[in-house]
Amino acid sequence: RFFMNVHYFSPGPASLPEAVRKQIKEELLDTFGIGVSVMEISHRSKQYEQLNEETHALARKVFQVPNTHSVLFSCCGAQQHFSIIPQHLSKPGEEIAYTDTGIWAHLACEEVFAMPRKINLVYDGRNCDYVSLGNPSKWDIPKNSKYVHLTVNNTVYGTEYAKIPTFGDIPIVLDMTSSLAGRTDIPWESTALVYASAQKNFGIAGVSVVIIRNDLLEKSREITKANYLGKALSYHAIFDTKSALNTPPVFPIFAMNRMLKWIDHSGGTPTMEKWSLEKAKLIYSEIDAGLYIGRTDKDCRSRHNFVFKLPKEEQDNHFIAEAAKHNLLEIKGYRSVGGIRASMYNGVSVESASVFAEFMRDYRKKFG
Ligand code: PLP
Repeated sequence: RFFMNVHYFSPGPASLPEAVRKQIKEELLDTFGIGVSVMEISHRSKQYEQLNEETHALARKVFQVPNTHSVLFSCCGAQQHFSIIPQHLSKPGEEIAYTDTGIWAHLACEEVFAMPRKINLVYDGRNCDYVSLGNPSKWDIPKNSKYVHLTVNNTVYGTEYAKIPTFGDIPIVLDMTSSLAGRTDIPWESTALVYASAQKNFGIAGVSVVIIRNDLLEKSREITKANYLGKALSYHAIFDTKSALNTPPVFPIFAMNRMLKWIDHSGGTPTMEKWSLEKAKLIYSEIDAGLYIGRTDKDCRSRHNFVFKLPKEEQDNHFIAEAAKHNLLEIKGYRSVGGIRASMYNGVSVESASVFAEFMRDYRKKFG
């Protein structure tokens, strides 16, 4: 990206590292050395089967998945999983627990509220306009709940659990669309299922990853029947066919492969986490130094999406316009939230974060 000096802070689809963009371009037309591109090759060919197998192995390694859990790739986005997950982990009439911590968490809640389940909303962030994630140790989770659904990083409002909470025997289900491959502390022993679409931290849009506890995957064969869920939406059927039940999204899986390789070669998720914390420190130091107003409580600040505003709305627009002059792009806040949001996933370098932090400092001196 340095050839144009562009720093792109999109919330997703998000920046890919320059090395990955270059590699994909170079390999695009003759991906396997047989004069055929990855977009054309049969998903039953040995070349694709090898790519698929390798990508599953890389996903296990990069996401640090223990043997207790299975990994599969889905052609759905994260949103489809909002309604598919409850149909794997609960039957009609059973209890499940949900948390409303932002736009995406709220949409996940809406999907289950339309289902014949007993839903316990154990945290409602609307009461504080989503600036806080509350105190999970105080949440009252009914004992019979099959699982508790958590959105680990709230992409729109810029909140993220400093520590992923657990609730004894009741397992958690984690939407990690904007945090998988960005943090190393997934409490696997307490985790029923993790899901994430690829376009933020580890690939491009068109594929998502589901990681499910082995025994729950087995149990889901019965449960999905009770829910009349179609085969092509059932995780066990996708798993049984090595994520190739449908013709798979071959190009997004290829891009994910190259991105996962890059993460692995860079030191894996521990390095991504370290870099995320460095980027967060750079930006929050500037937010705390004056002029800027951070949107969230400090104890639940996102490591991936930095949301703030200036004292007046017209200053937000001025800040965005000035940033664009320095090739600092795509930082307008979410349409219903306003202000500024700079998103820095794995593809955004610490150098880009420091260029943005320096801009914030200069802007404060000049216009503050
Ligand atoms: N969950 C979270 C936390 C997100 O940030 C997003 C998108 O930004 C989604 C879910 C929806 O993802 P998708 O567009 O892949 O359906």
